[in-house]
Amino acid sequence: MNNHSTSSSDSTSRSDELWMEEALRVAQRALDAGEVPVGAIVVRAGKIVGRGWNRNLTDVDPTAHAEILALREAGARVGNHRLGDCELFATIEPCAMCAGALVHARLKRLVYGADDPKAGAIHSLMQVLNQPSLNHRMEVRAGVLAGRCAELLQSFFRLRREEKSGEQSSVVSPRSSATDE
Ligand SMILES: [Zn+2]
Repeated sequence: MNNHSTSSSDSTSRSDELWMEEALRVAQRALDAGEVPVGAIVVRAGKIVGRGWNRNLTDVDPTAHAEILALREAGARVGNHRLGDCELFATIEPCAMCAGALVHARLKRLVYGADDPKAGAIHSLMQVLNQPSLNHRMEVRAGVLAGRCAELLQSFFRLRREEKSGEQSSVVSPRSSATDE
């Protein structure tokens, strides 16, 4: 590991990683429930005020992403729909819906783990935050514990593919996986 920086951002970096550890623990709850393992937490003044993990299947709700649920809990806990003094930590780059919600919340800072080349709306697929036409500016840090965040997601999809091909092999052919993803 390289400790290249000597500025005061070192302590921020370290605490970013600690908060991301918690987001990973939260993502594990999605995995345990058979959901796509993404986790998010909202932090305000050094305390967690919201936790969310994907619950699309559990809640039969297309909007039940980790970030949305964490923001909802934070809004209720803080007693304000504006979360201008809060930071959100997400294991994966937020999608367009969640990035839009972060703007609505006037979030101060977003920290996320792994990029999502297929749906990420921070810099991968599109850039929803910090558009010149939007007033709100949000600080963004990407790549915190990215390897572990991505690995959790990849292991989920790997397992699901194995389960699928297992099902198919007993019925049709082990090689037919055209429906996969
Ligand atoms: Zn989302």
